[in-house]
Amino acid sequence: MITDEAKVALTQLLEDRVRFDAPMSRHTSLRIGGVADAIASPASPLEVEALLRACRRFGLSHTVLGNGFNTLVLDGGIEGVVILTNKLRLLEERPNSSLRAQAGVSHASLMRLCGDKGLAGLEFGAGIPGTVGGWVAMNAGIGVREAKDVVLGVEVVSPTGRKRSHLGRDALHFSYRSLRGLAPGSVIVSTLFAVELSEPSAVKEEVKRMLDKRAGTQPLDVPSCGSVFKNPSGDYAGRLIEEAGLKGTSHGGAQISPVHANFIANTGGATASDVLALIAEAQRIVKQQSGIRLQPEVRILGREAA
Ligand SMILES: Cc1cc2nc3c(=O)[nH]c(=O)nc-3n(C[C@H](O)[C@H](O)[C@H](O)COP(=O)(O)OP(=O)(O)OC[C@H]3O[C@@H](n4cnc5c(N)ncnc54)[C@H](O)[C@@H]3O)c2cc1C
Repeated sequence: MITDEAKVALTQLLEDRVRFDAPMSRHTSLRIGGVADAIASPASPLEVEALLRACRRFGLSHTVLGNGFNTLVLDGGIEGVVILTNKLRLLEERPNSSLRAQAGVSHASLMRLCGDKGLAGLEFGAGIPGTVGGWVAMNAGIGVREAKDVVLGVEVVSPTGRKRSHLGRDALHFSYRSLRGLAPGSVIVSTLFAVELSEPSAVKEEVKRMLDKRAGTQPLDVPSCGSVFKNPSGDYAGRLIEEAGLKGTSHGGAQISPVHANFIANTGGATASDVLALIAEAQRIVKQQSGIRLQPEVRILGREAA
């Protein structure tokens, strides 16, 4: 619940880039999610700072989100202010074989720039949808390669909005689909990546090869959040779910994908409860059959419907 006074202050700060009582389903790749008290899109690190200070002043909690490609928002929506990074879009080549990208730059734009300028090193991530901020916060990756392999450092605004600092890779503690070392509620506003000079055609070819590989193995034509579960050590969540006979299992509008068992698709009108029911079912049956407890990779945000 946001007071009228807080609404006025947030609107003065961001004008039409803040909306109140707005559905989160438009900001997640699953197309699921209840209403957020406010959804705000600051367009610069300074605005991120000011927004966080305003949240503090009015006692509002905040949640940071990129493109919501790894996020399930519950049906009861999100209390407080959702900070979308999608307007932080500066992307520039820097000296010493590096590239700075603001948090809301889409991964696809990053790949395009690398292809056009012949900057190699990031192609392994081609086809991982979402923003640079989400990529780094999730330590997203494919196979053995992850964001951590190419991140030189990040620029972060503290949760109170009072401090902006540059952290080198030594201060960042990456692990499988996770980044620790930042205070909870911090906002990554930009990232410095290591790249190498190469031929544009070679970079573009590698990007295309990665995209083609993905197209054959993932259900890219239906709303999903990518892999729902982390791969357990030495095995694959998708293999375990498939072996448990769960491919194609539905609950309401959600379905364990018949193409890739670690994906849950919104086949139409799915709610977060439908997805949670499938998550619980997969965990239960896989545990029964293999003894392995699957851990969600998808980040679950918000509150259950009343
Ligand atoms: C079809 C499909 C395929 C996918 N394939 C892969 C894959 O191969 N490998 C893989 O690793 N992932 C994959 N994913 C998952 C997803 O693309 C990645 O996790 C991606 O990095 C998420 O980016 P995002 O901006 O959408 O993050 P969001 O979902 O918006 O956020 C994810 C988390 O990061 C935090 N976060 C986001 N931005 C910031 C920020 N600026 N500062 C602080 N915290 C932040 C959020 O709070 C949240 O906890 C796939 C998803 C889909 C839908």
